Amino acid sequence: MPQKPTAAIIGAGFTGCALAYDLTLRGFSVTVLERGEICSGTSGRTHGLLHSGGRYCVNDPEAGQECIQENIILRKIAKQCIEFNNGIFLALSDEELSFRNEFVKGAEKCGISVRWMGKDEIVKHIPAIHPGVLGGYEVPDGAFDPLRLALAFAASAKNRGAVFLPFHQVEKIHVNGSSRVNSLSITNRHTGQTSDLHADIFINATGAWAGTVAKMAGVNVPVIPAPGVMVAFEQRLSDIVLNRLYYPGDGDIIIPQRRMSVIGTTSFEVEDADYIPVYKEQVNSMIERAAEIIPALKNLKIRGSYMSARPLIKTGTDIRSLSRTFKCFDHEVDQGLGGFITISGGKATTCRIMAEKTADLTCSKFNMKVPCQTTKFELDSYRTYYQQKVL
Ligand SMILES: Cc1cc2nc3c(=O)[nH]c(=O)nc-3n(C[C@H](O)[C@H](O)[C@H](O)COP(=O)(O)OP(=O)(O)OC[C@H]3O[C@@H](n4cnc5c(N)ncnc54)[C@H](O)[C@@H]3O)c2cc1C
Repeated sequence: MPQKPTAAIIGAGFTGCALAYDLTLRGFSVTVLERGEICSGTSGRTHGLLHSGGRYCVNDPEAGQECIQENIILRKIAKQCIEFNNGIFLALSDEELSFRNEFVKGAEKCGISVRWMGKDEIVKHIPAIHPGVLGGYEVPDGAFDPLRLALAFAASAKNRGAVFLPFHQVEKIHVNGSSRVNSLSITNRHTGQTSDLHADIFINATGAWAGTVAKMAGVNVPVIPAPGVMVAFEQRLSDIVLNRLYYPGDGDIIIPQRRMSVIGTTSFEVEDADYIPVYKEQVNSMIERAAEIIPALKNLKIRGSYMSARPLIKTGTDIRSLSRTFKCFDHEVDQGLGGFITISGGKATTCRIMAEKTADLTCSKFNMKVPCQTTKFELDSYRTYYQQKVL
């Protein structure tokens, strides 16, 4: 039997875990290197909103379409991680009410089903809602458990032979004489030991750190770490995901996560994704804004304020206006460096299709014509990631 091609993935967030699963199904021998625990980057600190695409359908329709397409697939393959609670885009002012036509047009264009709900119906489902609510559109949003989603992909990869090396940090990327990456220097952060890892292909799936890691190989990736702050409250005040019927802004989402209400988020730019302060002013202004949706939030105990950085692909200047879509960089084509691919940008909701496109490109490098299979099967239980036995 010919040997399987070997692939080393750097980063075990949603993207790296979904990619490990896809590549093992396509016949690669996969090793995943992660400097922390699984999900210790951005993926462990998201709202956990399974986007319907409604948030992006007006001003970022490409991301809106990706979200609804993947929302439908994740509902099928990852139902163990999802609360199927839908969402409402609420009109709380005349300005928001007058956004109706644009929203419906955008949703139609992206293929997102919407249904108008009058005030009485909304109040019946969410007694804590602001009494001035004028109505809203129901959409197929949902809430997912971030750690379970990443672990379900990782378990499905591991059960098919992928090797995960958490707490292994990539320190250097070695390029040989023919401009091809051929090995990585890694440090085991438990023991401090260093070693080299060889593979046939290397994939940089380090999200907001993709630019830093790409630099180690001497290539440039235009990824901007764009952090956002979230606040978790000690109680759920709505079982349904709540958004505002308007362009995306700060403090305009409330998500039921386990027993909590999580509000989000802000968006700003930093140079170093490893140092992101949680600004008190941002927290306070988000609470003010979210209390316009549910006033009683102000009386709840805050469980925590936290942040993480979106990996946004630089295409413009204003952070809010940057697309939430993703990009797969073939460094052989763009900068003449073989054996090295970067995948970045996107959303948690779109991690499966990000992996599919990256695996398509990876296969093409080996003239392998193996179709993607990740839409076909339910993911293995997230619980099996930590179990010893191979299924
Ligand atoms: C505030 C906020 C809220 C969000 N909410 C949502 C939401 O509700 N729904 C949604 O769909 N999306 C959401 N997103 C987007 C989503 O969270 C991200 O797109 C996604 O988590 C990115 O995953 P990733 O795997 O690409 O990156 P990451 O999860 O950051 O994974 C990259 C990994 O690479 C590792 N790494 C970095 N450098 C090295 C190295 N040298 N060696 C080894 N490993 C390394 C890091 O430790 C990290 O674990 C949100 C984003 C933000 C910022």
